[in-house]
Amino acid sequence: MYNFAIIGGGIVGLSTGMALGQKYPNASIVVLEKEDCVAFHQTGRNSGVIHSGIYYKPGSFKAKFTSVGNQSMVDFCRTYDIPHEVCGKVIVATKEKELLLLENIYQLGLEKKLKVKKISSQEVKEIEPYVNCLAGVYVPTSGIVDYKKVSQKYSQLIQKQGGEICLNTEVKRIIKTSDSQILETNQGTIKTNFVINCSGLYSDRVAKLAKVDSQVKIVPFRGEYYELIPEKRYLVKNLVYPVPNPEFPFLGVHFTRMIDGSVHAGPNAVLSLKREGYKKTDFNLKDCAEVMTYPGFWKLAAKHADEGIKEMIRSFSKAAFVHSLQQIIPEVTVSDVIASKSGVRAQALKPDGGLVNDFLIIQDKQALHVCNAPSPAATASLEIGKAIVARIP
Ligand SMILES: Cc1cc2nc3c(=O)[nH]c(=O)nc-3n(C[C@H](O)[C@H](O)[C@H](O)COP(=O)(O)OP(=O)(O)OC[C@H]3O[C@@H](n4cnc5c(N)ncnc54)[C@H](O)[C@@H]3O)c2cc1C
Repeated sequence: MYNFAIIGGGIVGLSTGMALGQKYPNASIVVLEKEDCVAFHQTGRNSGVIHSGIYYKPGSFKAKFTSVGNQSMVDFCRTYDIPHEVCGKVIVATKEKELLLLENIYQLGLEKKLKVKKISSQEVKEIEPYVNCLAGVYVPTSGIVDYKKVSQKYSQLIQKQGGEICLNTEVKRIIKTSDSQILETNQGTIKTNFVINCSGLYSDRVAKLAKVDSQVKIVPFRGEYYELIPEKRYLVKNLVYPVPNPEFPFLGVHFTRMIDGSVHAGPNAVLSLKREGYKKTDFNLKDCAEVMTYPGFWKLAAKHADEGIKEMIRSFSKAAFVHSLQQIIPEVTVSDVIASKSGVRAQALKPDGGLVNDFLIIQDKQALHVCNAPSPAATASLEIGKAIVARIP
């Protein structure tokens, strides 16, 4: 019998396991992960950016956890010698109509007491010589890291504290009894007092296994990347972002220098017809039918039809993708980029078609369900883990 069982060995489940071990050193803790390694899904397939927290609405969990989480992630990497860099980023407006939105982002940064700076197109060029824009905002606290490496360190620390990580273990059923819960897995049965659901792309289904209606559906949005060929990496020094569409939770196709030196361009955001569908051709009947029969999806699709169609075109046409990149760096050509690995975002959608913008944690008597942990949950993972543990009754 365990005191705590965490479902999901992504960065959120692992940070929760670590925070639990710190708060309850004598508790028995197990992390159940269906893959043969940790961080296989969203955590191991992202842009690797340590976000500053600039974009998020003041008062939201995202704003609160990311501003603090940025610093705690950097401190964690320093403590455990995980390669990382606080390289700063520029957000650039390339069209007149984006200037006001850029100003709003700057004001959001000031409200959060970030050391942001408005910069002219010439000053942007001093930081990123190949970027063409009208104006920019410089955010010095953004950084880069490999979140798979961070997750592996979280795992080691959980095990050092006496916790267990069970790989290849998929939770298939949850049976509640008066004083415990029985988790049926492909590896046998596990008994626990308390369950924490951190299953990312499956969080709504795992909540359902525990008879909790999260009132949201996870809609998978694939983010596809291209990569600059090594000879063209010089075009990007660090991180270059466009001004995001404020109606959309995604940040727009950007350039990211990864900690291994490669430079990625992306991700776009296209509906994936499979929850863990990393290829354009991936399809799962159950996943697809669930989305297509969900009223919220059609309301969302109607509202963002234009954006959705543009993203589809960008997905199927390399020329269209490169055209978007050229808005920021005109010198990039189709032959300068090659397709790179993609990720799939677990985005919670409400029945009224509204995207859940903030982190969403649902509390039950003997369980907590993390039902929306999109970007920047990797950056904020240490703070999310602590917040989850603080909610345990
Ligand atoms: C394309 C992309 C780019 C992003 N860029 C950034 C970025 O630059 N910076 C940033 O901070 N964030 C970024 N994010 C967001 C970040 O990656 C996620 O918010 C974060 O990784 C979520 O972690 P998680 O642990 O909730 O989910 P996951 O990493 O998906 O982990 C969930 C785990 O649960 C397991 N699981 C599911 N069901 C079961 C079951 N029944 N039994 C056992 N195990 C189960 C899965 O196998 C998986 O390992 C990005 C995300 C994507 C997709």
